[in-house]
This record gives sequence, C-alpha cells and structure tokens, in this order.
Amino acid sequence: MLDFDTAQDRLIQAAVRPTRSERIPVRAALGRILADTIQATLDIPPADNSAMDGYAIRFEDYQAGQGLPIQQRCYAGDIPEALETGKAIRLFTGSLMPAGADTVVIQENCTEESDVVYIQQPPHKAQHVRYRGEDMSQGKTVILKGKTLSSGHIAILASQGITEVDVYPIPKIGILTTGDELTAPGQALKEGQIYNSNAPMLAALVEQLNAKVHLVLHAKDTLEDIQTALTTLSNECDLVLTVGGVSVGDKDLVKPAIEQLGGEMNLWKVRMKPGKPVALAHIGHTPIVGLPGNPVSSFAVFTLMVSPMIRVIQGRRHATPRVLYGKLDSTTVFKGSREEFLRVQARPDTDGFLYLSPHAQQGSAIISSLAWCTGLARIPANQAVGLGATVAYYDLKHWGH
Ligand code: AMP
Ligand code: MG
Repeated sequence: MLDFDTAQDRLIQAAVRPTRSERIPVRAALGRILADTIQATLDIPPADNSAMDGYAIRFEDYQAGQGLPIQQRCYAGDIPEALETGKAIRLFTGSLMPAGADTVVIQENCTEESDVVYIQQPPHKAQHVRYRGEDMSQGKTVILKGKTLSSGHIAILASQGITEVDVYPIPKIGILTTGDELTAPGQALKEGQIYNSNAPMLAALVEQLNAKVHLVLHAKDTLEDIQTALTTLSNECDLVLTVGGVSVGDKDLVKPAIEQLGGEMNLWKVRMKPGKPVALAHIGHTPIVGLPGNPVSSFAVFTLMVSPMIRVIQGRRHATPRVLYGKLDSTTVFKGSREEFLRVQARPDTDGFLYLSPHAQQGSAIISSLAWCTGLARIPANQAVGLGATVAYYDLKHWGH
C-alpha cells in the first residue's frame, strides 16, 4: 500500500512539462499559461502625475492664508509648463506633474478667486503624487512564466502595449470509461444498467482546469474493446484517464489490456478513502491513469492526484494548489486505518476559522454529495478525530481550477 502523498508525488513525476509554445493575441489569453517571463519595457506610470483633481504646488511655497496665482490650467493630455516660484498649476487626475512642483493639493481643500487659489488646510509634502515607474519599472519582471493569465495579467500586458503572448499549448485529455452496466445518458436504461455519470463529470473537471477534452470513449468489459479505445486515445492525447476496471475483479481488464499493448502498469492500493485503487501506465510516451469506478472515488482521485498532473502538463508554476485548514464541525468521531477525504461544506465564521461540516453520507457511490460539497477534509489515519479538530482542507475553488 502507498500513502496518499507518495502516490500523488509519483503521478506528478509522471507528468511532463510542455516544450513547445504558441503565440496568441492577448485578448484570447485569459486562462492560458504564459510560456515566457514578461519584463516591463515601459515605466508605468510613464511620468510623475497627479493622483487627484487639484493644484500642483511647490511645498515650500505654501503659507497659511496666502493665495497662489494660477499659472496654467493643465487638462488630461496637456503638457504642463515648469512651475514658477510662488504659483500653482491647476491639474486633474492623471495630469503630468509640472517640473518644479512636488505636491498636489486636492480641490476640496481649496477655494479659487480671480485666478488665485487659497489652500484651506496645510498640505503634506509630496502628497497625491504618483511617481514614474512606481507601478512597473523598465526591465523588471512583471509576469512570471507559468502563470495562469488572469484579468489582472491582461491589464499588465495591455499597459505595456503588448498585443501577443507566448503560451503553452492546451493539453489534450482522453477519457475512457469501462463497464457493461453503463448506458450513455440519452439512451433508454435497461434493467441492471445505470447511466454513465463519470464520463461527463470527468470531462467537466478537465474543462474546469482549462484543459481540453479531446475524446471520450466507452468500452465494454472486453479486452478487445478496451485495447482499441486505448490505442486511439494514447495516440491522440497528452494524458489518458481510464475509469473503472482496475481492481482485481474478473472483469477488471484495464491492466491486461495495457500490458498487451506493451505498457507496464503500476497498480497501487493507495491508503486513502475513497479511492483505493489507482493505476499508472504509459503507452508509448502517453501517461495513462486508471481511476476507480465509483463516482466519488473518481472525483476525489481526479481532484487530488490527476489535477496536479494536468497542471504540470499545462506548464503551470504550481502543480498543487494551496491546502487550507479548518475545524471539523461534527460530533462524529472519525478513525480509520486509511486516510479519509471527507466531502465537507466549509463555512467561515466570525472567529476567523473555517468550519467544516461533513456530508451525512460518505459512501463512495453518493453522487449527490459531490455537488453539495465545497471541498475535501483530510482525516489522518489511525487517529480519533472529532469536533473542533484542525484538519487540512482541499478547497475545490483551488483544487478544481
Ligand atoms: P469498477 O471499478 O469497474 O468495478 O466500478 C466500481 C463501481 O463504479 C461500480 O459500481 C460501477 O458500476 C461504478 N462505475 C464504474 N464506472 C462508472 C461510470 N462511468 N459512471 C458511473 N458509475 C460507474
Ligand atoms: Mg467495471
């Protein structure tokens, strides 16, 4: 048996970082992974300017009760004159600071009479000035390679006048579900059959990570069917996920199918609940991960162990998102020989702690718990853990994206 962290680490090690990149317009770059660190070529702001509507003065010219004649009115886009001694220049938010001025007095603190401004409150030296390069300065790194581009990054790129960026290709993920008992939604359900919920769920999980679902196949529980599907998927995809058929039952044919295709498969019993059997193989260079068939197990193993692989293949800086901590809000005492990942709802309280309430049904086939939970709480093995205990919390907002 492998412990969870080791299994997660082995899967991350099996993922290969991208070696190619592609150039795309910035307006299509949201959610893409930057392939080249970006350095500022411009100082932002490009010149000292005013943060407020008001008057530019030389601080030492201020004297209580003494008016300063207005030398110029400088609107957005105008170029200010050099400030003369004892005078003020009227300016507005974003107006360039006149040479010689060092302080902006906001208009609310001033009165104006016959082109003379009277300052009603003593100013502070250098107030309300934005300095050249205080935001970004030429030559400094502004976005690191491997960042997932957000709206904030798009603003940085635009402020630098950049229209195109190099990003990594979107990885193609293949999904193979197996099982004679499964019917695709939309088809009539025969006796003894259930709908295939894992295929659409995993496709959605893949898309949530900004990876591409290239192909979804379903195979009957026969060697031939599974092999045919695996051959297609491993040829066309960067990562293949199989679902079900990886235990030790008679119809668990994924392992022999992979082996007959020349792949070597590691089948691990991971000391975690849900999700015990997890498999890793390669066909050619393509990694294949075998997920358990139970929907909750599939969901948990994907979220905790496959999403980090996909982040590596995408070229992201961090394979594993941050893990939070919370307090268990349940009178049940949890204790098992395997680590358990409970589906919980997290609720922040006014004391600053996150409180984690477990779903009442923790069975690995309880599909309805997946939409209910906000994340997974990690319960250590062989320890009685109950009300108020602090545990690691894997928030789906981080781990699902
Ligand atoms: P298996 O690992 O193939 O023995 O599957 C374990 C359990 O998960 C069985 O109850 C299957 O019916 C169920 N299962 C497997 N694949 C899926 C799927 N794609 N959708 C829903 N349930 C599944
Ligand atoms: Mg099966």
